[in-house]
Amino acid sequence: MASICGFLNIVLALLALTGEKQPDDLVVFQRGNIPVIIVAPHGGTLPIPNCPPRKGEGLPKRARFITAQDVGTRELASAIAEAIYQRLKEKPYLVILAAHRKYVDANRPPEFAFECEPARKVYDAFHRALENACQEVEQRFSCGLLLDIHGQGQNPELVYRGTAHGKTVERLRKLYGEEALTGEKSLFGMLKARGFKVYPDPLGNPEWPGYSGGYIVRRYGGERWAIDAYQLEFGINYRRKDARAETAAIIAEVVEHYIKLYLQRPQETSEPRFIEQSLKISLSRGLTEKFPRRDYCLFLGQPL
Ligand SMILES: [Zn+2]
Repeated sequence: MASICGFLNIVLALLALTGEKQPDDLVVFQRGNIPVIIVAPHGGTLPIPNCPPRKGEGLPKRARFITAQDVGTRELASAIAEAIYQRLKEKPYLVILAAHRKYVDANRPPEFAFECEPARKVYDAFHRALENACQEVEQRFSCGLLLDIHGQGQNPELVYRGTAHGKTVERLRKLYGEEALTGEKSLFGMLKARGFKVYPDPLGNPEWPGYSGGYIVRRYGGERWAIDAYQLEFGINYRRKDARAETAAIIAEVVEHYIKLYLQRPQETSEPRFIEQSLKISLSRGLTEKFPRRDYCLFLGQPL
């Protein structure tokens, strides 16, 4: 059985060998069969034909013009997808930008993301793939989890959480309460319990302003498609070549728990009372509207 990593390496090797690339060729996409989407916009290395590097001239400070690659994050995203497959025997969706960030920044709004027409096409292809993945997850499973994989150079030992201070996981918080974002059984609570050094810690503290969630998690997370979107900013100690497999295995284990805790229909969970309590908590916070269908995910792997 060919591994995802192996497949991606072959795809990327072919891309490097072939001449003229189409915009879609610079976006690596894998269709999944579970409500989990792994994204890596900043780990690419390839040039965009007929496109000079971006200069960022005249951009406002809020554009946060950066051309540096998030080293190792393309490989880490692939390793996470592979580890999830090894653990669950089910594939997550995977969307990776193979083009280098110096030509296009897929984690920025379009007005700050590219400076030439070929790069615009690559940007559009990436977001088309990601939007299709989110729409499909919402249609097939009613809700989902998106992990946007990045690298930060500020602290090698830390993994920063970015949810726009909870906005990009609105579905989760409404249905399961704040504990689902800041408690021991939250995504980052479970990562911390397995040895990750996380920020914020305590988990209820404010997120670091520079890493609190960019364009991707804000555009695709939240209630629009009932996607819980997290930006994960990894220090180098987690994305070095010799560390990726362990990082990926831990994330896969936590993703499995996350699916069971937060992405299954209440009647199919193993802990129905927990769900009942969460609903009560949510209702007691003034959420009196009927919960829409999309607040409940279909059971993992259930046919359409
Ligand atoms: Zn990044």
